[in-house]
Amino acid sequence: MKLILHRGAHEIGGTCIELIHSSGARIILDAGRPLDAPPDAIGLLPETLDVSCPATVLICHPHQDHWGLIHELPDSWPIWTGEASARLIEISNRLARTPLKGPFLTWKAGIAFDVGPFHITPILTDHSAFDAAMLLIEGDGRRLLYSGDFRRHGRKGGLVDRLMASPPAKVDLLILEGTNLGTDKPVMSESALEADFVALMARKPGRIFTAWSGQNIDRTVTLYRAARRTGRDLVVDLYTAEVLEAIADGTRLPRPGFENLKVVLTRGLRNHYARAGRDSFVERMAQHGISASALTGSRHVVMLRDGLVRDFEAKGVLPGPDDAFVWSMWRGYLQDDGPAYSWARKGGAEVQFLHTSGHASASDLKAFAAAITARCVVPVHGKNWQMAASDFPGLVPLANGEMRDV
Ligand SMILES: [Zn+2]
Ligand SMILES: [Zn+2]
Repeated sequence: MKLILHRGAHEIGGTCIELIHSSGARIILDAGRPLDAPPDAIGLLPETLDVSCPATVLICHPHQDHWGLIHELPDSWPIWTGEASARLIEISNRLARTPLKGPFLTWKAGIAFDVGPFHITPILTDHSAFDAAMLLIEGDGRRLLYSGDFRRHGRKGGLVDRLMASPPAKVDLLILEGTNLGTDKPVMSESALEADFVALMARKPGRIFTAWSGQNIDRTVTLYRAARRTGRDLVVDLYTAEVLEAIADGTRLPRPGFENLKVVLTRGLRNHYARAGRDSFVERMAQHGISASALTGSRHVVMLRDGLVRDFEAKGVLPGPDDAFVWSMWRGYLQDDGPAYSWARKGGAEVQFLHTSGHASASDLKAFAAAITARCVVPVHGKNWQMAASDFPGLVPLANGEMRDV
């Protein structure tokens, strides 16, 4: 079997990895959009990816830096991903008004399937994206584990602990993410973060305007639990309500209709769903809805994003010193002149940064590699692998576009 790392050798995101069986069959692990690509840029597939012959694509989780280039792939290439991941990617596509690609072929975590001569076992893991999987891939008498993106300190951290306690036998090659290598990003558990939110919510008399990703389900759960613990309601936007509806079936996850959870009906998103012919969704959400004007003078925990500011302002929702503004995403995404951040500061709201990484800490990465005991480790999805090389025995750094025998 051969491995080509098309993109992701020295960067975070934009991941694209190819495996070629001795029979010539090919699978592509992720077709990610580079995180630094301008929003309207096209033609971003790695040049070394041959699109002239068949291949099958496996998307390990629903973050754009792993699936964002699927529109550029040949229509004839089948795309596999998890069941919930497929629904989440479809929602993102609709929101961005990009044409839907699909239908996807979907796997169930823990249930192996074959793609030509490859035997694949998706292993559910802990990450800031819902339904993230590691992929165990067997073919040509070789066994590979692709970590995708993962962490050990989220609400599903036990899944990674269990995998480390009984890892697959005789792994020839581990393809390992390294986002947090060489950084001192704080890594705390989601439950410790929940305690910080509870303390803030108990202390502030007003609203807690919070900016987080609607697809970060662990964080939605953290906020929902903290809100309940302090006698508040969590208010999400229509998009986040759609995400929760799409995945919550068969789980205990909060969703529209749960106590202490409200959906704010704002003009911009209502129009968006109306244009997509989905008024019935908005009508259904209205049963659990709250108007923006009802947020004035309340104690709600309110989702805030740049696109909501204008609609809030139009309804007289203005932040003040009794309120807090919480940035609950990576600090690198925060722009000083961003509409939501500027709006909150102008009103005198207390600014807080409460977040924990979606990726494993450097020490957890090291412990994970030690537990898997692969013959060699190919680094991906990181900028600082060279600083940590001695922590990973059998490390085989590849350049983008380089091919290697497995
Ligand atoms: Zn990623
Ligand atoms: Zn990710």
